[in-house]
Amino acid sequence: MSALRSRLKTKKRIIVKIGSASLIDPETDGINHERLEELVKVLVHLKRDGKDVCLVSSGAIAVGSKALGMSGKPDSLPKKQAYAAVGQAKLIQAYDMLFEEAGTMTGQVLLTAITLENSLARANAVNTFEELFKLGVIPVVNENDSISTEEIEQVHTFGDNDRLSALVAQLTGADLLILLSDIDGMYTDDPKSNSDAGLISEVEDLTDEMWGMAKGTDSKGVGTGGMSAKLAAAKIAVENGADMLILNGNDPENIKKALAGEDIGTLFLSK
Ligand code: GLU
Repeated sequence: MSALRSRLKTKKRIIVKIGSASLIDPETDGINHERLEELVKVLVHLKRDGKDVCLVSSGAIAVGSKALGMSGKPDSLPKKQAYAAVGQAKLIQAYDMLFEEAGTMTGQVLLTAITLENSLARANAVNTFEELFKLGVIPVVNENDSISTEEIEQVHTFGDNDRLSALVAQLTGADLLILLSDIDGMYTDDPKSNSDAGLISEVEDLTDEMWGMAKGTDSKGVGTGGMSAKLAAAKIAVENGADMLILNGNDPENIKKALAGEDIGTLFLSK
């Protein structure tokens, strides 16, 4: 085990982000309950191990869309915001049930970019997280899509939950951010089209070459965050003293393996 990997064993405050692509079952377009149940069990295990844990979960728009019987992505901002209102309620209901079954409480924190830019609101958010951790609650965070005032993809929104999760890591002073993705980590090229593409284990510097590689592998699935969004999240995390890991979210046990020092996923090292 490398010394860099073994330092993951000592992390105290961990933010885990799951994207729509990892929590939606592509066969039904609905919530993948089995996967969420496994994820919740792992998060509760970490909490019992003495860590502060927070989940950033996407999925509001996708879940709302399915509940309303719509197919494909919504084509206007009001539709996205309305679908998110329906979906967020269903999502948090699913999490609430799963956390309760696992013997822990959850709480919902919805953030907007404008709130975090306002120093008073930001301080309130910090206090809320601190109190939730003290109470042993595992917060579930998402962007408040229904009231984000501009385009969901543009200004005054987080753009995607990769960035949101990095800002939550910064806000809470977390020492580790884990992005659960639909691939094993960051590759030198798109592994779907280039069989020679290699998985990168550790990243010490976000070089121009890295940004170039990320651009070439941006995915276009149900989620919004490609590899460039993940690198942007890594930049925020490492500059604020948190390591960041990209892991495959198809098996939430990967989180435990990585925290035990196993060489899986891609680890971005904090400054
Ligand atoms: N906040 C959006 C949702 O919950 C998703 C943003 C993202 O996928 O990164 O649907």
